[in-house]
Amino acid sequence: MGSLANKKPHAVCIPYPAQGHINPMLMLAKLLHGRGFHITFVLTEFNYSRLVRSQGPEAVKGLADFRYEAIPDGLPISDDDATQDIPALTDSTTKNFLAPFRCLIAKLNDYSPPVSCIVSDGNMTFTLDAAREFGIPEILLWTASACGFLAYIHYQHLVDRGLIPLKNSADMSNGYLDTRVDWIPGLTDSMSLKDFPSFIRTTDAKDIMLNFFLRETSRVTMADSIIINSFEDLEGPTLTSLQSILPPIYTVGPLSVLARRAVPNESDLAAITASLWKEDKTCFNWLDGKQLASVVYVNFGSIIVMTKEQLVEFAWGLANSCYHFLWVIRPDQVKGESAVLPPEFMEVVKERGLVVRWCAQEELLTHPAVGVFLTHSGWNSTLESLCGGVPMICWPLYAEQQTNCKYSCTDWGVGMEINNDVRRNEVEELIREMMGGVNGKKMRENAVKWKESAAKAAGPNGSSVVNLDRVVNEVLRRC
Ligand code: UDP
Repeated sequence: MGSLANKKPHAVCIPYPAQGHINPMLMLAKLLHGRGFHITFVLTEFNYSRLVRSQGPEAVKGLADFRYEAIPDGLPISDDDATQDIPALTDSTTKNFLAPFRCLIAKLNDYSPPVSCIVSDGNMTFTLDAAREFGIPEILLWTASACGFLAYIHYQHLVDRGLIPLKNSADMSNGYLDTRVDWIPGLTDSMSLKDFPSFIRTTDAKDIMLNFFLRETSRVTMADSIIINSFEDLEGPTLTSLQSILPPIYTVGPLSVLARRAVPNESDLAAITASLWKEDKTCFNWLDGKQLASVVYVNFGSIIVMTKEQLVEFAWGLANSCYHFLWVIRPDQVKGESAVLPPEFMEVVKERGLVVRWCAQEELLTHPAVGVFLTHSGWNSTLESLCGGVPMICWPLYAEQQTNCKYSCTDWGVGMEINNDVRRNEVEELIREMMGGVNGKKMRENAVKWKESAAKAAGPNGSSVVNLDRVVNEVLRRC
């Protein structure tokens, strides 16, 4: 190893092992690389193999100073390309990841520039123990919304007040979830229990996910700094509240916009991808032939699964709306079986639809033909939609999707929610309202304003760029 290379600060970046966490961490890693860091990007062996299968062996080649490494995830070995069981995986991160991660850092210290800092997902706080052991600083990247973060942090308060876990399963549907929670500074006043991240919806005090978030949010205070993939204009009051209870926090989002500006398209760095599915490129040609804001884009992200009945309700809602639509259906989208659409619906697809398995979503949401995004309100999807100036129809199911949906529909004025028990008539009505109605027009205008605001935050001297410089300087000082 040459002496110059040895002088580079070395950041070990480790995302939680799911697509919605890997993407923002990869963008942050690229931005750090651009600021002179040697990068080690750590995947699980399972995701490393998936990346090779979906993109080819070149995908993990990296660069001389941007390397991929893999650690086991502690789950039974599988070469299935379906999304892993999230509670099992999450439980395993707390039990099985620290030992191989510690070995990896020791190995890196021997064979590469010594590790100067850890940049870890905010849901992987076992890494803080490794940082302490090796005497190096750690930055946590919170990949979801600040409002979701603040809501998770208050799980403990909900437990202390006896509001969660639920007393019995009837509380899921008897109006109990409408209980107002208006006493948390920084969260919107109209919050109810149902707007909290979904893991409160349990009667089991030992529930894995509930306890995971209780534990993780109590440990994040051990980090040297916390960065959030959001921007100040969007989540100001929430951020002020978080700032009063956490280590220094910085908003550095939308990371996708910062990375797009900082990394030239044709560079080797831009070619580094971590998409676990192969992207279908036909979407762009198909969209190119469509009029401005004329297409309904549907995608429910990388994790959630739905029932066959729900899939069919969405299908007929789309068909009956009479608009063009582009629908991304993952091979493992439907619970327990492959997603089979009714043959009559496939006739409609031939006329005015396109159904694919995976797409380059972030880019797709900037296409002028996209008129509305029917989404599960995952945080990356929400930000990508705002950055494209596209309003949303929200169908939240899991994690902090409920909180993102709440803010999209109220505070940010860019979304309308579909009932959890989805029905074709409602899908059709909301699409018509969003594409052609007065509300839809207003929400599109709002979305365009957020797009401009996001571009400002990620532009020259924008708050997110300045914050990223501050956090980098801070960590370099501590290294
Ligand atoms: N994504 C993609 N193509 C798809 C579906 C999703 O590139 O067909 C990306 C999307 O752009 C986003 C991430 O996968 O960056 C999904 O993250 P999100 O937080 O929206 O939802 P999750 O998958 O975590 O539920």
